Amino acid sequence: MKRTKVKELLNSTAYGAEIKLQGWVRTFRNNQFIAVNDGSTINNIQAVVDFQNTDEATLKRLTTGAAISIIGELIESMGKGQKVEVKVKTLEILGDSDAEIFPLQPKKHSLEFLREIAHLRFRTNTFNAVFKVRHALAFAVHQFFNEKGFVYLHTPIITASDAEGAGEMFRVTSLDFDNPPRDEAGKVDFKQDFFGKSTNLTVSGQLEGELAAMALGEIYTFGPTFRAENSNTTRHLAEFWMIEPEVAFNDLEDNAALAEGLLQYVIQYALENCADELEFLNNRLLEEEKSKPMDERSEMDLLTKLRFASTSDFERLTYTEAIEILKNSTPNKKKKFKYLIEHWGADLQSEHERYLVEKHFKKPVILTDYPKDIKSFYMRLNDDGKTVRAMDILFPGIGEIIGGSQREERLDYLEKRMDEMHIPKDELYWYLDTRRFGTAPHAGFGLGFERLVLFVTGMTNIRDVIPFPRAPKTAEF
Ligand code: ATP
Ligand code: MN
Repeated sequence: MKRTKVKELLNSTAYGAEIKLQGWVRTFRNNQFIAVNDGSTINNIQAVVDFQNTDEATLKRLTTGAAISIIGELIESMGKGQKVEVKVKTLEILGDSDAEIFPLQPKKHSLEFLREIAHLRFRTNTFNAVFKVRHALAFAVHQFFNEKGFVYLHTPIITASDAEGAGEMFRVTSLDFDNPPRDEAGKVDFKQDFFGKSTNLTVSGQLEGELAAMALGEIYTFGPTFRAENSNTTRHLAEFWMIEPEVAFNDLEDNAALAEGLLQYVIQYALENCADELEFLNNRLLEEEKSKPMDERSEMDLLTKLRFASTSDFERLTYTEAIEILKNSTPNKKKKFKYLIEHWGADLQSEHERYLVEKHFKKPVILTDYPKDIKSFYMRLNDDGKTVRAMDILFPGIGEIIGGSQREERLDYLEKRMDEMHIPKDELYWYLDTRRFGTAPHAGFGLGFERLVLFVTGMTNIRDVIPFPRAPKTAEF
């Protein structure tokens, strides 16, 4: 007999049917009621044991976490809160779970504690919901681009170009770490390394993405990226997933419209396809908020926030306009910002980004035209000679969720910028070739996937939206 998933059983009205139910015990009460979960939904189904006709030893083994297999009858439930339940005919324990040592008990555990047992946290409702939403968002990203005719491009994970992330890259080598070969000057001789040169894990697929976009027209990447930045924050990981579209003939306005469309599409998809999970996460947050003082509670609950973000236009303004707002803001005047905004050219910190989004505009914001000195070499120079066609999208509770730009397509401008920033042109000859042969305007951006999942699930720490987080001093499992 084939098992029926809990999700299906809960929606079934085939009362009297014999079914097979397999899953894990969440709770066992009154020597009679087993709450069974099989992962197909965050909801449990109740299985009722005829304890008078079941041997004592078996009942004792019905502990939280035990895997069980039941043949029983689907019946209408008398209890409240559920439509159906299963009357157990035969019960088999597939795998015991010793209650004395199993770390998950039927009570609320802190997220910090669960992070330490990340190999078991999938078994909680919270993480069941988080990873279902994560899946749905990933699927929606592919669907969005596929519907638009984009090509999913797999850019390399090992790369020899360190143009972007000087000092922030993880080295990849097969040299003997204790005794590496050295050249005459005594430096490690990477000519003898696996690839014949020094290589790293990628920080972004953009440069390679541009090469493909300049022929295929519209591409996107969706893969892991790595940054050895020592940022111990709730928004940074050392290994995270990034979505990077790149589109030929797009300018910055097209780029912003694409980004806004993508974000709204995937949030909408999650609202439509993860109703149970989002309702659960919404209630979880409401519960958490109860312990906060009134003035620290959010104005919108999670579901309202998601509906709002997926339907209202994002605010668009330039960096220069944002600096004016920040300069004149109350926290700046009262010296409440850690980094005060005193002059044009200052890099925006997450406190400034969040002020703009959460206090000033109260909606997602697209900031454009940043000073060239705080942005990357490949961004297109504006006619003012001071700013570049960059855009960051800022989200409530998150800060920067997207960073992108219209690219510098003019070879002479690009080379000049590379010289100024000491980027080796010879190593990047292949990148410059796109500008040498049939160059054209184009634009793209990078969306940090975990920051998106953070926003949609309402979780607060990025380590809780990726199964096994990699961060400074953290590489367990
Ligand atoms: P931040 O200023 O927040 O460190 P960044 O400017 O370094 O971000 P980009 O290089 O523009 O970010 O990367 C594009 C996107 O990738 C960001 O908008 C963000 O969503 C995501 N991202 C960047 N760094 C990380 C990280 N360490 N962990 C998770 N996501 C990240
Ligand atoms: Mn960064």
